[in-house]
Amino acid sequence: MQKEKSAATKRKIVSAAWKLFYDRGYDETTVDEILAASHTSKGSFYHYFEGKDSLLSSLSELFDEKYEELMRSIDPGMDSFDKLIYLNQELFDMIEKRVRVDLLARLLSSQLITRGERHLLDENRTYYRLLNRIAKEGQERGELKGEPAPEEIARLYALYERALMYDWCICYGNYSLREYAARAMPLMLGELRSEGKKQALIMGAHMSIAGGLAKTVADTAGIGANTMQIFSRNPRGSGYRDPSSEEEKNFRRIRREAFLGPVLAHAPYTMNLASAQEKVSEFARLVIREDVARMDRLGIELFVLHPGSHTGIGAEAGIENIIRGLNQAITGDERITILLETMSGKGTEIGARFEELKAIRDGVEHPEKIGICLDTCHVFAAGYDIVKDLDGVLAEFDRVLGLELLKAVHLNDSLMPFASHKDRHAVIGGGEIGEEALLAVLRHPRLCGLPFFLETPLDDAGHREEIRRLREKVRSIKS
Ligand code: FE
Ligand code: FE
Ligand code: ZN
Repeated sequence: MQKEKSAATKRKIVSAAWKLFYDRGYDETTVDEILAASHTSKGSFYHYFEGKDSLLSSLSELFDEKYEELMRSIDPGMDSFDKLIYLNQELFDMIEKRVRVDLLARLLSSQLITRGERHLLDENRTYYRLLNRIAKEGQERGELKGEPAPEEIARLYALYERALMYDWCICYGNYSLREYAARAMPLMLGELRSEGKKQALIMGAHMSIAGGLAKTVADTAGIGANTMQIFSRNPRGSGYRDPSSEEEKNFRRIRREAFLGPVLAHAPYTMNLASAQEKVSEFARLVIREDVARMDRLGIELFVLHPGSHTGIGAEAGIENIIRGLNQAITGDERITILLETMSGKGTEIGARFEELKAIRDGVEHPEKIGICLDTCHVFAAGYDIVKDLDGVLAEFDRVLGLELLKAVHLNDSLMPFASHKDRHAVIGGGEIGEEALLAVLRHPRLCGLPFFLETPLDDAGHREEIRRLREKVRSIKS
């Protein structure tokens, strides 16, 4: 009882001191002010601490206090890997809100030369006990690999956290520690995950490039996405601006820092490779040449286009035009992969049948440059029943095209009914496909690891919520 009471007193001092350090600065805070703020006496203060300086190394106790709170509040049913990520997010959130960068830097550097029970590496800290417990439980439940031992997992985790804190200090806290860690920790810890649970869901939405690509990447991170789709140029007009080499370099850097998965550029809707009109098809070839070159310079991995509409000359002649156009536009030296999108078949659209996409790919001189983007709204409207028979549709795709050609998925619900050949996207769960069927797409083992792009009629805030909800539901499903 006495021990508990004294631990509480000490905790009161520690938390009052760190609040003052944060609000006013370390140098500006006096011991008397700490005493007043914590309602403790000089006697008890000096019982625990030699002076203000020795409070600096009490930061680990502040952390442990946070961990004790988390230990009580964490949902025991949460996946162990997610628990580790969650703990890190909560701790770093607290650091950003309550610890000044200069003091964190002082603590980290003082730890290089001090030893003792307040040391960060002390195995008896709540921190290590909690990490050990989660690692052990994760291995028992098969959520984490059986190797290495739980103690080693805890050690690695702590090591990564220190590395992130160190970098944040060395950059003077000029970025969000929590947001950076949200992307970095899953990558650093990913190897600990059991096979099958390992791959992080790559998900993004169609984003505006109106404010420049740097803003687009920032907006993408802001909506909790780890990839994005953009238009390769103004979707309706023909306008674009060549990025400077400075902008190119900048884009490559920021997308790396945002840990974006494969980025998808979408060709403008107005082009039509299938057209019999020379002017129309020439424009389409020009767009492909220019945009592919520009996207290649930016290091963008994927370029998706609608095959085209035959506008009355028949599917066969349309397909021939598409093949001729692609052959004229593609040299084979491109780095980007060009994706043909599965279409709903509205009007005279080509590409509503897998066989048509297959015929196009087989006809071109550089089939190795061509992949497929599957749009869930379009295939459903085209008459592939992904609601009742997703396995069957994927088997059909595999038989006709080969699933290895599938490089991206457009995840959309459909406002229009099955086989309607009408193309109207709906928000996930707000259409004829429904949330359950689209969740089944997201977690289908044969689609595992592909990037998923939302083209649902929502703004960034709406996509943020949609992504959050889908991630949560995918995670909560026990496989
Ligand atoms: Fe499209
Ligand atoms: Fe699409
Ligand atoms: Zn569409």
